[in-house]
Amino acid sequence: MFDWHAHGVTDRGLQRRRNEDALLVAPASRICAVADGMGGHAAGDVASRLAVETLEAAFQRPPSPRIRVPALSRRLHDVFEAANRAILEHAATNRQCYGMGTTMTALSPLVIEPRCVIAHIGDSRAYRFRRGELVQLTRDHTWVQTQVDSGILTPLQARHHKLSSMLTRVLGTHEAGPADIVESDVESGDLFLLCSDGVTTMLDDADLRLLLDVALPLDQLAAALVAEANRRGGADNITVVLAQASAA
Ligand code: CA
Repeated sequence: MFDWHAHGVTDRGLQRRRNEDALLVAPASRICAVADGMGGHAAGDVASRLAVETLEAAFQRPPSPRIRVPALSRRLHDVFEAANRAILEHAATNRQCYGMGTTMTALSPLVIEPRCVIAHIGDSRAYRFRRGELVQLTRDHTWVQTQVDSGILTPLQARHHKLSSMLTRVLGTHEAGPADIVESDVESGDLFLLCSDGVTTMLDDADLRLLLDVALPLDQLAAALVAEANRRGGADNITVVLAQASAA
């Protein structure tokens, strides 16, 4: 139904000593993901890598082309649970990894119908860019988001709040909970963006819309997003995965 092209890039940014983000782009398995690790003694990169490796292994055998949303959602849900367990177990046997965790946001398109499924835990986001319009598909698992949901903070106040990066749910904890599952319809030309908060703290939705509204190959588009996040200060690790559907 659609040809999917995807490209991912991760960058340390300008202010962090290490890159604790990880990404997965596996078009043949119809899966891509971004993970943003944190915590412990420099073990964030271990957590994010474990998460995407768990996902990659689970999709080594790609979903059937006939799979539908409920089964694909279950599959993603199970992988997130497995990733959570893998991180907890690793931390339990490696002291230096105690307390590590990671976000993960994964996207998998269907073949049989024009839809895709997104699973996520944490504050790495998925957006859909369609004909100049940008829609955030995921909702951050952050404390400030709960305050926005309760009407206590405006989105703008949340963005500039000193606790803006405090996560409420993360893989690698007993409280991770089930992945949030979001589905989206897909039209030819749709561009999906998965990114870590090193992108979205530097670039707001208006910035992203402008940067994505340029007819460039995905690798150049991803590079432009990273370059702009760095130009604004590159305060955190920066990871971008772009996936685009085009009529087959
Ligand atoms: Ca980050």
